[in-house]
Amino acid sequence: MKSVEQHRSDIVEIGRRVYRLGYVAAYDGNISIRLEDGNILCTPTAISKGYMSEGDLVIVNGEGKMVSGARKVSSEIAMHLLIYKLRPDVLAIVHAHPPCATGYAAAGMPLNKALVAEVVMTFGCIPLAPYGTTGTAELTEAIRPFVPSYDGILLANHGVVTYGSDVYQAHAKMETVEHFARISLTTRILGKEVLLTSDDVSKLLVAREKYGIKAPVKLSDTCPTVQPEPVEGTITLTKEELVDIIQAALECLRHEKH
Ligand SMILES: [Zn+2]
Repeated sequence: MKSVEQHRSDIVEIGRRVYRLGYVAAYDGNISIRLEDGNILCTPTAISKGYMSEGDLVIVNGEGKMVSGARKVSSEIAMHLLIYKLRPDVLAIVHAHPPCATGYAAAGMPLNKALVAEVVMTFGCIPLAPYGTTGTAELTEAIRPFVPSYDGILLANHGVVTYGSDVYQAHAKMETVEHFARISLTTRILGKEVLLTSDDVSKLLVAREKYGIKAPVKLSDTCPTVQPEPVEGTITLTKEELVDIIQAALECLRHEKH
């Protein structure tokens, strides 16, 4: 079991990492850890996450009331409190604005395609919560339906929140979300996306249990979106194949005329 002092240095370290990776600018983002006594150790408002020291952090109770610390608590603490309330298994949360994943959030696009095996295994998918003004009940209500079933959520026109059983895991999930957003964007630039099939996804979910990944995932028609089953009686052709068939048919007609 880690001491409160160790948790403080873990938050400072994760702050440096999210800043170094460019996942936050200026005073963006916040990080928290649920302590053994149920209180929450978190980053304060108006501070660069790359340059914090242990003494800058504050402690609040389960209702968000200050317990200790010289600085003001982050305005986004309500989002953290809701996640801790709905997910007893979660002991740490990272919220940041990584540019590519936040781009998806600003484009109104969830990261829900079955494109990368590792991501399907870890997250199932990363849903998009509707927009809610930061620091208000709008934001907490927007994420509420997704928290019980997903470990990472895109916040529309805002950023990303990820969580796990410790702050390093929560941060690793933030890295995976941003990395996957870049891969997804690359497939869009290339103009081609080959999705895994529902069979592939089922096998990954079995493997998931073997690896001991316990985080819940609610699967649906769109989480993750898989390759559509070929419909009986229909065929799939590439553009080149279709052009070849039409050319061959025209060739036949030309011969018939002569
Ligand atoms: Zn934010």
